[in-house]
Amino acid sequence: MSEPKTYPSAPVELPLRLDVEPAPVEGCAGCAELVSVRVRARAVGDITTVTDCNVYLRRHPEGH
Ligand SMILES: [Zn+2]
Repeated sequence: MSEPKTYPSAPVELPLRLDVEPAPVEGCAGCAELVSVRVRARAVGDITTVTDCNVYLRRHPEGH
């Protein structure tokens, strides 16, 4: 049995688009905090933290 397992480069699913940043939900302390962290992270070039904040901001409906 020689079934070639050559998947056509299985794409890594990226649920988040880095070019569109989520806006904080008004009145949510969690979102406000995340935005301030994001601003500071971006100021120092910490893109990883910026991305993390965006992920959490998107999760607002599910809770932070
Ligand atoms: Zn929120």
